[in-house]
Amino acid sequence: MIQQNTPLLPYNTFGLAARAAHFTEVFSVRELQSALQSGIQPVLILGGGSNMLLTQDVSGLVIKNAIGGMELVRTAGNTVLVKVGGGVVWHDFVCWVVDKGYGGIENLSLIPGTVGAAPVQNIGAYGVELKDVFVELEAVELAGRQLHVFNHADCRFGYRDSIFKHENKGKYCITSVTFALTRQDHQLHLSYGDIQKTLESNGVTQPAIADVSKAVIQIRSSKLPDPAVIGNCGSFFKNPETDRAVLEKIRLSHPQVVSYNLPDGRVKIPAGWLIEQCGWKGKRVGNTGCYEKQALVLVNYGGATGSEVKNLAYAIIDSVERTFGIRLEPEVNIF
Ligand SMILES: Cc1cc2nc3c(=O)[nH]c(=O)nc-3n(C[C@H](O)[C@H](O)[C@H](O)COP(=O)(O)OP(=O)(O)OC[C@H]3O[C@@H](n4cnc5c(N)ncnc54)[C@H](O)[C@@H]3O)c2cc1C
Repeated sequence: MIQQNTPLLPYNTFGLAARAAHFTEVFSVRELQSALQSGIQPVLILGGGSNMLLTQDVSGLVIKNAIGGMELVRTAGNTVLVKVGGGVVWHDFVCWVVDKGYGGIENLSLIPGTVGAAPVQNIGAYGVELKDVFVELEAVELAGRQLHVFNHADCRFGYRDSIFKHENKGKYCITSVTFALTRQDHQLHLSYGDIQKTLESNGVTQPAIADVSKAVIQIRSSKLPDPAVIGNCGSFFKNPETDRAVLEKIRLSHPQVVSYNLPDGRVKIPAGWLIEQCGWKGKRVGNTGCYEKQALVLVNYGGATGSEVKNLAYAIIDSVERTFGIRLEPEVNIF
């Protein structure tokens, strides 16, 4: 059933008060195809609304993906293939596999949103990305309503990037994703961030995947604002990747600059550090602002509009560019 003039406030973690001219929730591929048959344009696929900034009302049809299901497809040697519905809450899926003892996504614990949206920006955290465990996905083409399969190469994953942010942007609804996880002898990634330190303070010397998941949850809860308490979309900007010469130039005025080497010889500089140097961390502008504990996160203190947040984002982008010659790119999808 398609509803009219639906408030989207409960459906986006920024807590923005946009409305959808038409709105429906789908629980199966068939329901999705039938909603698309309505012919209402444009169509916006909504997951958990944790990576979108709604700057205006949506004129077409918003389809909330609620397609469920988690099934073990096959086991082969140490690998288990798990197929998950696009509308499943990502963290529910993580908890399910951690509980079963399957490894590979424990570092991705507590990332908000749905499984179907996860390949769109190749979600990642603490040294692990979705692409590391991805096998294939099924997606319905919005125009033709046909179901297509995309393998790893088809998705062209990059840092917070995939084909669904480029040629296929807004053209498909991802209805399921299949993952390859390990059954034992898991390859743990403990060197990133404070994982090792947190495990030690938890008294864990030989961590199992459940210990790693717990540590990640503890770290994230202490650093990131809970959208249920204060509206936000996590990291608003991507960490810029740049030539080493740019880094060396910054180092002249800021010897303490932080950077990470990339395999191609370039470097990644934390966007949060750049923003903080420009004096934005903890700064409030009207109803929005830059989170006090993490400059990469923009927040809605209550009653902010999407345009207010967008204006703040672009003020930050301009300020970082003026200071460092680096133009930050939003990670969040702006509508
Ligand atoms: C507190 C917080 C912490 C976060 N931490 C991280 C982090 O550590 N790492 C990280 O990578 N991200 C992080 N994020 C961002 C966000 O959680 C992810 O990008 C997540 O995958 C978004 O899922 P969603 O279902 O909410 O997508 P939505 O916000 O609903 O949609 C995002 C985009 O994907 C499209 N889309 C949604 N579902 C589908 C689908 N089924 N098929 C096709 N297109 C679709 C939408 O149209 C939109 O363009 C964080 C967000 C918050 C609020």
